[in-house]
Amino acid sequence: MLEFARSEGQRGLRNLSYAERGKLVGAVADVLVANRARYEDIAIANSGNTKVDAAIDIDGGIGTLKYYARLGGARMLLDEKAVRLAKAENYQAIHLMVPRRGVAVHINAFNFPSWGLWEKAAVSLIAGVPVLAKPASATALLAHAMVKDVIAAKVLPDGALNLLCGGAGELLAALTGDDVIAFTGSADTAARVRGHPNVVARSVPVNIEADSINAALLAPESSPGSAAFDAFLREVVREMTVKAGQKCTAIRRIFVPAGKADAVADALAEKLKGTKIGDPRQADTRMGPLVTRGQQAAAFDGIRRLASEAAIVCGGTDAPTLDGIDKNRSAFVAPTLLKLKDAGSAQAVHEVEVFGPAATIVPYRDEQDAAGLIARGGGSLVASVYGEDTDFLVRIVSEIAPSHGRILAVDPAIATAHTGHGIVMPQCNHGGPGRAGAGEELGGLYGLRFYHQRLAVQGSSDLIASLQAKAASVH
Ligand code: NAP
Repeated sequence: MLEFARSEGQRGLRNLSYAERGKLVGAVADVLVANRARYEDIAIANSGNTKVDAAIDIDGGIGTLKYYARLGGARMLLDEKAVRLAKAENYQAIHLMVPRRGVAVHINAFNFPSWGLWEKAAVSLIAGVPVLAKPASATALLAHAMVKDVIAAKVLPDGALNLLCGGAGELLAALTGDDVIAFTGSADTAARVRGHPNVVARSVPVNIEADSINAALLAPESSPGSAAFDAFLREVVREMTVKAGQKCTAIRRIFVPAGKADAVADALAEKLKGTKIGDPRQADTRMGPLVTRGQQAAAFDGIRRLASEAAIVCGGTDAPTLDGIDKNRSAFVAPTLLKLKDAGSAQAVHEVEVFGPAATIVPYRDEQDAAGLIARGGGSLVASVYGEDTDFLVRIVSEIAPSHGRILAVDPAIATAHTGHGIVMPQCNHGGPGRAGAGEELGGLYGLRFYHQRLAVQGSSDLIASLQAKAASVH
């Protein structure tokens, strides 16, 4: 498959301009739109998604393809203007970005079989690098159905899009320094991928999107009933229950001024207890099961670890009793809210990612205390902060910025208009430092850099001008 992608896929894509490849990516989106209803059924059956969960995965993937299809027309190759290097005026240098000559190996997590596939494929295909995608085995059915449709529609050159279902086998041993790996999954697997002897020996570039203990913070002065307070409650509940909390970006730590922690706990528990859990095929179900019983067991194990330092406000470590559902043959976890007993000494809350509908309230004393506690997460994909006071929001964004890849700051002006803490927008950077993997994806044209080699060319001003003209001609 790698050989086919390197020969056929590279040939088919390399001879096209960015704009032409943008049209191909748009055509992929059209194929998926035409078959959308079938994908929804697969997401509900294979991932335990509700219709809303399935929409986030499927439409998130299609939306990202469409966004990058439009970006195909943008100017990309020339990194900057030529610069003079010596006294002689006609000796100059320029930086170019050229598409890599290998294959983009995309190893994806189980929780987004559609979005995870297409958010990477869109960027890679626009850049002109063929894709070999490996979905996680537990939910590979949706990725398989989608890729099969795209291949059957013949909208891409042969070899441009390849799918490997099942274990990775010896895939990493077969890569070369021309290839790249974009990995999404747990920190443990990420370490194995990054440390694979062949990946290390050949310096294969690796982008890691790993797990993350994301924070949401309520500003000190925000009071019940204010727009920011209500937006905060809504967002925490949504993040805990959408996709049953199986989102890398989901809120796991809820930072609240110490004096308001009980009021927030009561308000959240009331909303969480009212969430209808059950068969995701039923129209009134708001939250379905976790994806497998293995994930359910891992979530209960994580909640037990959190509960060694925190009180359980609602939910817990037993499967909920649900009408018509056999506890022994299903994988449900009730929305579980915890509250720290002693925020200063607690550790598990900053270290354990429960990949399910669980989050912990962390009471904080003041701004400095909150910023210090948030940083204990060791690097996160995203944080969201909610308040009325712009000065406070500016200060806290600056304080916590170094340990994040994205921050959503909600003031009353966007309390009901923002796109959500956990929704990754193709226009914005996706990735985070430290524990989150130190990766960077999307972010508009910036996302294309990973699939390009950047180089400086030094030469005469005539030669540099010719190179500039050639680079411009492929846009
Ligand atoms: P995982 O167990 O680490 O698996 C991720 C992928 O790696 C799967 O496709 C898996 O294949 C593959 N894999 C496993 N061992 C491998 C090896 N030795 N060589 C190459 N590939 C290998 O993660 P997961 O359980 O699917 O996903 C959940 C985790 O992903 C959570 O921790 C979540 O936070 C994180 N996540 C992060 C992001 C992000 O963007 N940062 C997004 C979504 C999820 P098999 O399934 O065949 O084992």
